[in-house]
Amino acid sequence: MDELPSATASAASPPAPLPPAVCRLPSAISADPLELLAAEVAQCKLCQELASSRTQTVFGVGNPNADLVFLGEAPGRDEDEQGEPFVGRAGQLLTDIIVKGMKMQREDVYICNILRCRPPGNRNPMPDEAAHCRPFLDRTLEIIKPKFICCLGAVAAKNLLASEKTIGALRGKVLDYNGIKVVCTYHPAYLLRNPAAKKDTWEDIQLLMREMG
Ligand code: URA
Repeated sequence: MDELPSATASAASPPAPLPPAVCRLPSAISADPLELLAAEVAQCKLCQELASSRTQTVFGVGNPNADLVFLGEAPGRDEDEQGEPFVGRAGQLLTDIIVKGMKMQREDVYICNILRCRPPGNRNPMPDEAAHCRPFLDRTLEIIKPKFICCLGAVAAKNLLASEKTIGALRGKVLDYNGIKVVCTYHPAYLLRNPAAKKDTWEDIQLLMREMG
């Protein structure tokens, strides 16, 4: 072929528009990358104990274009029942931090956990469970591309950063995860048990807000 077919050849008779059934995806199929990932997570059975005891997987909630991701540990009983992270008492405190402290809305940020299934009795995630779930977290972060992550508690901070340091040592500073600025603070459930630590978390949140401008 000497040259590409002329673009003007079809200009005289433009092609008829495709019928709607060809143009549109069936409504049951989503092209939203977070929804596709959530559907994949819902099928996951890598952690036998968690898969057999969960009511449902708890993926994440919030703005898919958020600059800020809050990262918790794992769903608790309320989250397992409702399918949304941080909806119990600790979740109410997180909402207060976002709304009253940061003057933002829960819908402005994205909220997810190290694990997407509730560990029985709310025990800490096992290392192999965190490893199984890690690709789901990393793919979530690749889709959202946040500028900031706030780790809530030692499990989130130590897992994300692959650190052995205590939450006391990790909080109060700006750290880095693959070019994303990370601020760690106490878990809201810890704050409910130890209200005296709220002033430290408020300092961490103020540090985060200064970084966010
Ligand atoms: N605690 C967490 O770490 N995550 C939740 O989703 C709820 C409570």
